[in-house]
Amino acid sequence: MSNQHWMQRDLSVLWHPCTQMKDHETLPLIPIRRGEGVWLEDFDGNRYIDAISSWWVNIFGHANPRINDALKAQLDELEHVILAGFSHQPVIELSERLVALTPEGLNHCFYADNGSSAVEVALKMSFHYWRNLGKRDKTRFITLSNSYHGETLGTLAVGDVALYKSTYEPLLMEAITVPSPDCYQREAGESCREVAERMFVHMEQALARHADEVCAVIVEPLIQCAGSMRMYDPYYLTLLREACDRHGVHLIADEIAVGFGRTGTLFACEQAGIRPDFMCLSKGITAGYLPLSVVLTHEQIYQAFYDDYQNLTAFLHSHSYTGNPLACRAALATLDIFEQDDVINANRALAQVMGDSVAHLKDHPHVADVRQHGMTLAVEMVKDKASGEPYPWQERRGLKVYQHALSRGALLRPLGNVCYMMPPYVITPEQIHLLAEVMSEGIDLACR
Ligand code: PMP
Repeated sequence: MSNQHWMQRDLSVLWHPCTQMKDHETLPLIPIRRGEGVWLEDFDGNRYIDAISSWWVNIFGHANPRINDALKAQLDELEHVILAGFSHQPVIELSERLVALTPEGLNHCFYADNGSSAVEVALKMSFHYWRNLGKRDKTRFITLSNSYHGETLGTLAVGDVALYKSTYEPLLMEAITVPSPDCYQREAGESCREVAERMFVHMEQALARHADEVCAVIVEPLIQCAGSMRMYDPYYLTLLREACDRHGVHLIADEIAVGFGRTGTLFACEQAGIRPDFMCLSKGITAGYLPLSVVLTHEQIYQAFYDDYQNLTAFLHSHSYTGNPLACRAALATLDIFEQDDVINANRALAQVMGDSVAHLKDHPHVADVRQHGMTLAVEMVKDKASGEPYPWQERRGLKVYQHALSRGALLRPLGNVCYMMPPYVITPEQIHLLAEVMSEGIDLACR
């Protein structure tokens, strides 16, 4: 059976995510037959390096033998059980290990089954905490411009990527949006830390003005991933933690994309030395095997809900697949690999190779920025390098890079005019060099 065969059957019955389906009149859909390590193989036998980790979830390669074995063993024990009134070994062990690994004091784990749901949980918990304390005026959230927290109505409301949000605006609660500390916006001679300091003034003002009506500030620590991989300095988070405390507002760290080593540390918050009030994790938590998410929070939050049932202070939120045992088992195997292979240290060398491999692109006439935080590297294509004028989005330059990469055996899926690598950590230096070569060729073609 060929790609063509599966594509036809697919397109007659499926509706794909984040896709204008009409594109597939000209852009072939790629049905994947199998995966192994960084490689994906289609039904015609073509192979592609998964340079974007299948939407940033895969961290230890496809069909990883250690995770496969853990899952096979779990399958024979318990596939799923309701998590209300019941519990199981994988979810207990996973919670213990997450509490030990995340910033000190985050000691309660609330599970859901995807990233957006985890953000919804954090938003609701923060709001509900203040309500349980009698602070009924606190009903709003502060977010950064260009942020992304998911696709459900609550998460779109605290996001700021117009492409995904603007259509649904009439349905959304109104967030308070503060300009992002995005270092791409730096002035000549300014460091990312200086940008963070300068931009924090806006956050401080918003907090001073709105603290009485605000439940929490929500951020993606260090990288606004869906917002074109824009990056900022950890110092912003240090300032934010202090200001949230001073103004009596929670801090929600959405580490769904950046957690589990993407920025060079296990969690991005570590680089700022902060503990958020809520930390949302998903994606890499199961190494890309199964949907799972968790919100970690601290004792003070937990205790505000802990009371006699009749007082109706409980957090009565649930999803059917909350804390699924198979997903938790995959997560435990993932944490084992981090520990046994000293992954965070090993990634330092890989991140260096990534940076070196594309360093030459800084001189490209249509590249305005090459930026990196650990295992995430992004290259911003522009129409005019001197002024930073972007290519009009309608020209879909990134799509040209995508198509070129496919023809050269790589899955590089740019975000608009931004090409990036966010590979599984099992990638080799040789494979990184190949990706860099393909990306450079793609950028040359796309910027003609
Ligand atoms: N938050 C961030 C920072 C994300 O990058 C994403 C997914 N790209 C989400 C939330 C939503 O996660 P999910 O797609 O699993 O709902």
